[in-house]
Amino acid sequence: MAFKVAVLPGDGIGPEVVAEAVKVIRAVSSDFEFEEALIGGIAYDQTGHPLPAKTLDLCHEADAALMGAVGGPKWDNIQPTSLRPEVGALLALRSELNLYSNVRPAKTMKALLTASPLKGDHGMIDLCVVRELTGGIYFGEPRERRENGTVAVDTCIYSRAEIERITLNAFDVARARRREVVSVDKANVLETSRLWREVVTELAAQNPDVKVTHMLVDNCAMQLIRDPRQFDVILTENMFGDILSDEASMITGSLGLLPSASLSDAKGDLPFGLYEPVHGSAPDIAGQGRANPVATILSAAMMLQYTFKNLEAAKRIEDACNKVLESGLRTADIFEPGCQLVSTSKLGDAIAAAV
Ligand code: NAD
Repeated sequence: MAFKVAVLPGDGIGPEVVAEAVKVIRAVSSDFEFEEALIGGIAYDQTGHPLPAKTLDLCHEADAALMGAVGGPKWDNIQPTSLRPEVGALLALRSELNLYSNVRPAKTMKALLTASPLKGDHGMIDLCVVRELTGGIYFGEPRERRENGTVAVDTCIYSRAEIERITLNAFDVARARRREVVSVDKANVLETSRLWREVVTELAAQNPDVKVTHMLVDNCAMQLIRDPRQFDVILTENMFGDILSDEASMITGSLGLLPSASLSDAKGDLPFGLYEPVHGSAPDIAGQGRANPVATILSAAMMLQYTFKNLEAAKRIEDACNKVLESGLRTADIFEPGCQLVSTSKLGDAIAAAV
């Protein structure tokens, strides 16, 4: 039986990079059927909503979803804000599909080490941030203005159950890596962090095959620059994860290379996931064949690994990306003298051929 993948190209460079990822999956396996649906600004233009019911239904039916990116200047001022692509499509999709775990690997490609802002081998990292995605201060209520708008309130709230499920998920991610988890919190100040540390400590005792340590978030921000190679898996809550995953990803040197997975509970045997590049819709280069498709292709590899448990196919895609970049083919964003400048689809063709 074929697995069903919802394909959500979205806006800007989204359709260009998603097409290359589908091309590469087809080259590696014939187990998948793909069905496309509208999301983002283009969906708003055509249906009046950035996340049409039909798209949501398809995601509920599918085993996994592969997304490009949403948003762009054309839709920045839509009112009400809830109809803007980033809010009405992206945040809505996360909460509708219960995507509570955001997994963001940051791995420097050997061929691109010079792009890292850190000197020498320091930038050669292979770590993964597991960020809680549907709780904490981004979702807590009340969130309001008081006293004629002169006072603002946000609420950070976490339950034991929310911390348990993300922690167990981080342990699973660690089991496919070096089995070391650093749990990041602010337990010297915040009550939510004290609960976080309590729960992670309890679960660590029940899962002795994973080595768990704790670190305060300010120290972690510093350690990521001082010695990023000490980290395997960083487990953290929503807002800290938002900031630390961006910091970690920039150590690898290029936004166009970074994949991500947002995971939910299993549908049957398969954990449902939404897979997408970390970058946005890059309206400045859309439609010009200049977008780097590698982040989306690596997101497809994560889909094979995390939802479909096909580690061999995932590794073949990752190796193919490395091989093609090492051979000197480059899109403009990672171009260096001596390399060959190619278009989005030419790079996708080369990676599909290399798998
Ligand atoms: P962006 O990531 O789209 O672009 C930042 C810069 O990086 C641009 O110069 C762009 O050309 C370049 N870039 C990004 N991806 C690239 C790729 N694959 N290949 C080559 N170059 C690439 O960020 P932005 O400009 O801040 O946002 C543009 C739009 O995307 C906004 O509307 C924003 O809200 C939206 N956005 C969407 C998502 C998402 O859908 N998950 C994430 C971030 C931003």
